[in-house]
Amino acid sequence: MRQVAILGSTGSIGVNTLDVIRAHPDRFQVVALTAGKQVDRLAEQCAEFRPAIAVVSDAEDAARFEKLLCDQNIDTQVMYGPQALVSAVTESGCDTVMAAIVGAAGLVPTLAAAKAGKRVLLANKEALVMSGNLFMEAMKLGGGELLPIDSEHNAIFQCLPVQFTKTPHSNLGVEELWLTASGGPFRNTPLEQLNTITPEQACAHPNWVMGRKISVDSATMMNKGLELIEAFWLFGLPLEKIKVLIHPQSVVHSMVRYRDGSVIAQLGQPDMRTPIAYGLAWPDRIDAGVAPLSLTQLASLSFAEPDLERFPCLALAFEAAKAGGTAATVLNAANEIAVAAFLDEGLPYLQIPAIVEKVLHAIPAVNADSIELILDIDEQARAVAREHAQASIKNH
Ligand code: NDP
Repeated sequence: MRQVAILGSTGSIGVNTLDVIRAHPDRFQVVALTAGKQVDRLAEQCAEFRPAIAVVSDAEDAARFEKLLCDQNIDTQVMYGPQALVSAVTESGCDTVMAAIVGAAGLVPTLAAAKAGKRVLLANKEALVMSGNLFMEAMKLGGGELLPIDSEHNAIFQCLPVQFTKTPHSNLGVEELWLTASGGPFRNTPLEQLNTITPEQACAHPNWVMGRKISVDSATMMNKGLELIEAFWLFGLPLEKIKVLIHPQSVVHSMVRYRDGSVIAQLGQPDMRTPIAYGLAWPDRIDAGVAPLSLTQLASLSFAEPDLERFPCLALAFEAAKAGGTAATVLNAANEIAVAAFLDEGLPYLQIPAIVEKVLHAIPAVNADSIELILDIDEQARAVAREHAQASIKNH
């Protein structure tokens, strides 16, 4: 029986994870759940899954949450604040951690899971983008298993030979990784219309149902940029061997090209329960509740090169990946601030790449060799991004 902690259980990935777990009570027990602000939803989850620990953001939420649990005689221990997210990993008795908090807020508890030798199911790509080498070293020292949940990286993981992590890729004949991207809702929108895009339009992804931040990242293709950096750290291939392909149908989730001419792809419905179930049960395969894929009902599968003029965020992510060190931390922080300002404060859509570019060029990259330094650079980048965002909103 796997003992599972879910960081970010109230979000899209968290809810899908609980859906898979619900169907397999003989395999998985939930021992910790964490939320940000959705206290009522967390209370419902606690009533159903009875974890040992549940975490909310602050003392005020914790008091309200505790009362909700008390009214239903649920004896889950309530904790709050960033350090409690670490406790959910280290004190709940879990052996498996679903890292599904969105953004930088997930870094410290995900790193704690890596250090503690847990099976880490990594959805929170921002954590790896920010801390790259440090995170991979923590996984190695901790001795746990790292299984990618992002559908593209999960697909690549499935297409690589099992001995991949222990044998140099060149000996196995791996030539290239091809990350597929839907191109999001604005793949064909005339460029002159992009500045009037609203948050609702940006969050209406054609194929996937996801949280708001990753939906905007998909629209700008920053998501694919973050995934490129994620793939670099996860699979250890040089950047020039990781390619991005626009594939609007989101059926081929990614591919590996081998030296002998073979290309191995993983196909499936655009439903995150497939990679989640794969990570939870690995190396077994279990029912994920996902409808079978019918290839005969698909009109076509098409592939194209991404247009970097339409998607400047992708070009900026390539640039940060090449620069190395803390450049990816800066890229991620600036993007988080710009996306939040677009979603909640009226920042025009096209200011997202503009702000990321300004911040990336304002803060020089240095070696990302400690968590303190990474968090410090993250804070600096956020402050600069906030200034630019406020100025853009004022001038708009
Ligand atoms: P959601 O916005 O739906 O959920 C985010 C979760 O994180 C919620 O549980 C939220 O709590 C919690 N959270 C947010 N801020 C904080 C904070 N400061 N402290 C503690 N908890 C916090 O996001 P998704 O589920 O869509 O995405 C989660 C991660 O998975 C992201 O990194 C995303 O890139 C990645 N991912 C998502 C995919 C998807 O299909 N959704 C696909 C591939 C990767 P609350 O809601 O209670 O405030």
